[in-house]
Amino acid sequence: MSIEEAARAILKSKRSVALTGAGISVESGIPDFRSPGGLWSKYDPLEYGHIGSFRANPEKVWKMLLEIDELLEKARPNKAHEVLAILEQKGLLDAVITQNIDNLHQRAGSQNVIEYHGHNRTLRCETCGRIYPKSDIDFSRIPPLCECGGLLRPEFVFFGEAIPTRERHSAETAAMDCDVMLVIGTSGSVAPANYLPHIAKHHGATIIEINPSETELPKNVLDIIIREKAGSALEKILEFIETETEK
Ligand code: NAD
Repeated sequence: MSIEEAARAILKSKRSVALTGAGISVESGIPDFRSPGGLWSKYDPLEYGHIGSFRANPEKVWKMLLEIDELLEKARPNKAHEVLAILEQKGLLDAVITQNIDNLHQRAGSQNVIEYHGHNRTLRCETCGRIYPKSDIDFSRIPPLCECGGLLRPEFVFFGEAIPTRERHSAETAAMDCDVMLVIGTSGSVAPANYLPHIAKHHGATIIEINPSETELPKNVLDIIIREKAGSALEKILEFIETETEK
């Protein structure tokens, strides 16, 4: 029933957006912060993911970053990423706002992706700001350094850092302007990303949550709740939409 309601809301919408979190990539083999075992049992995300830890001990944090790179290289987009790209092609989804840094939305074919927490494609010098493609870096020496001697860092947002202004503005505008927001695979515990559903709701949007578990988003913000994994839920939503549009 909620699948049908969600599909009908998307079909009726003038501007819909998706807000995605780590959960959408779990079926691609990238653990979220809540998955038992795996990377995050070894590295506490709040410690290793904090800008203070990176600056205090870049060698330690870079070792973890290289393990993440290995994981991301192996990962492939799953059904959920693919369905969002198809919805965009059909003109039924305006943008994906992702908290993820794994590039899987783009690899699935989504064009309008707002990378709220930055990305992992290039490195930036902490001192002079020079940008390096990863392929130019010799990772046998950790931490990698810029030609100026400065520390190189990934271009994603660590805990303790501000959201890049352009991404924050685009995401907030998309949230204000949409009439449907799909909130997929996010625990709703990381600020300020977790305000985006509130902004959308405040501007009159229907909020659809897809997540197999309860989240920290308050119930009064959510209009339709689908307690299911992203891949199967989005596949069923697409099937319903395709059947309706073929009639
Ligand atoms: P989170 O780890 O706090 O929560 C993940 C959520 O996804 C949970 O609510 C969980 O129930 C749900 N989930 C698990 N499997 C799912 C599935 N198959 N389908 C749908 N939902 C599923 O993640 P968050 O809220 O995104 O916040 C963590 C922060 O760390 C974010 O910035 C996130 O992007 C980042 N992170 C990114 C990646 C990545 O790039 N893939 C991986 C880990 C963490």
